[in-house]
Amino acid sequence: MTSYETVIGLEIHVQLNTSSKIFCPCKADSWGDPPNSNICPVCTGQPGVLPVPNQAVIEKGALLAAAMHADIQQISFFDRKNYFYPDLPKGYQISQYDLALGQGGYLDLPLEDGSTRRVKIEKLHIEEDAGKTIHKPGRRLLDFNRCGVPLVEMVTAPDLRSADEAADFIRYLRKLVRWIDVSDADMEKGKMRFDANVSIREKGSQVLNPKTEIKNMNSIEHGREAIKAEINRQIKEVEAGGKIASWTLDWNEETKTLSKMRSKETEADYRYFKEPDLLPIILSEEEIKQIYESLPELPEFRKNRFIDEYGLSEYDSDILTSNIDLSNYYIDTVETYDSDASTTANWLINDIQGMMNEINLSFQDLLLTPEYFARILNLVDEGKINPSTGKTLIRKTQELGKDPKQIVAEEGLAQVTDSQAIEAICREVIQENPSQVEQFRAGKTGLIGWLIGQVMAKSDGKADPQAVRQILLKLLG
Ligand SMILES: [Zn+2]
Repeated sequence: MTSYETVIGLEIHVQLNTSSKIFCPCKADSWGDPPNSNICPVCTGQPGVLPVPNQAVIEKGALLAAAMHADIQQISFFDRKNYFYPDLPKGYQISQYDLALGQGGYLDLPLEDGSTRRVKIEKLHIEEDAGKTIHKPGRRLLDFNRCGVPLVEMVTAPDLRSADEAADFIRYLRKLVRWIDVSDADMEKGKMRFDANVSIREKGSQVLNPKTEIKNMNSIEHGREAIKAEINRQIKEVEAGGKIASWTLDWNEETKTLSKMRSKETEADYRYFKEPDLLPIILSEEEIKQIYESLPELPEFRKNRFIDEYGLSEYDSDILTSNIDLSNYYIDTVETYDSDASTTANWLINDIQGMMNEINLSFQDLLLTPEYFARILNLVDEGKINPSTGKTLIRKTQELGKDPKQIVAEEGLAQVTDSQAIEAICREVIQENPSQVEQFRAGKTGLIGWLIGQVMAKSDGKADPQAVRQILLKLLG
């Protein structure tokens, strides 16, 4: 039996999170707004209007190009991509063709087995989105809110080798665009969507066979399923002696089936030409240098640094580089306020994130600043409070928004380390619980934990548990 290899390339559209559209001042993000409420003569293509490029779109597009290791071009051009569709009122889309903002580039995708797959970027350009056609029984409705919404289109080389790798690529790219704050990449809201070009070949072959294109996927899981289904279909077709034709396919999420949309257009069908209403995009060497310099440390690099420099586990490092707010909060606590890297990671992942999920807080809402957090960790470290008081103090600091040291003083939370005071409580507990004490002395040593618990409760959790254990053991002989 022949064994096959899958060859996948992706075309991804990322909606940039600028406040206004690419060529007019209309609001870019219309999610939840009524249809046709964020439109103007420019984005609806009325006669006599002129587009004005939004500088923020160029900057964010260039930043994404930098993150993909592409070369940002000093001079690039807008082009008209001509096609007719009801939701494209101008009859063309302003895009970039051969001389685009970014050239080249790649993304090193981390794979399951610890290696990476280098996925080359063949095209990276900025463009405007088209409107939306809403199909209702017997009629079509048009919503132009999306016309002129800024996008980056990125096309990868056919470097991916399975549906799972394609899904991982999209997941990784989503994290990256959020990390550098160029897009919310909310796929359910269509802010990141992708097409997949899929073909198969005999394992070991270098030939690129005719491919099919699965259009407009806006869920990673559905995309993975669609690609898998298409790979299986192609294998069956070839095994039966058939040939693969270059179709454009649509994935139906409900029925989990692919259907043929149309034969694929070629670039010649779009009759590209330079946009006559816009000047070229010109970036000086200095501006390009600034863009590269403003790129934050990227998640994969930072993850490895956490493992090497801080001795964190791969698992913890992964969590602490899953989003940039969490990651920066961690770094700030450890580097600026000099807390212990591993304890900080542990408390941040378990206790602080736990609290944030419970009461639905973002890092912007956090009154427990990295400085306060580090102070709590130091109080525990110095034995001034015990760890369980420390955890209570995390919530109290968030509630009150003031210095945890002050809270400790005001509420008398300092750990009782005075051995006489602890001994007095221990004696009380021994006196009040004769049967447990007898059982302990008869060899049921596990009861020590229960007795420590009683002493901790009586001290309102403020006793030093280590000291309690020692004193109890001494008293019980
Ligand atoms: Zn507009």
